[in-house]
Amino acid sequence: MVWAVAPFYTSSNDVFGWGIFCVYEVEMAKSKKREYVWLECKDCGEKNYRTEVNVQGGTPKFELNKFCKKERKRTVHKIRRK
Ligand SMILES: [Zn+2]
Repeated sequence: MVWAVAPFYTSSNDVFGWGIFCVYEVEMAKSKKREYVWLECKDCGEKNYRTEVNVQGGTPKFELNKFCKKERKRTVHKIRRK
């Protein structure tokens, strides 16, 4: 458990101040939402890229036109989770 002092702002009474926040809990919340995934070539299945995506509410479904190192041409890449 790590505690950190960070600035905070409350809009209700327009007060700037310093607050103590638990860094451990903040990091845990982040790790639940974001995940490293592979961008896999749809044609040959080669995993060419590594990226971080928001996985809150399931794996995002998008396809990217990226350069495939194996085929040496631009192909459609889809997300592949571990
Ligand atoms: Zn390919």
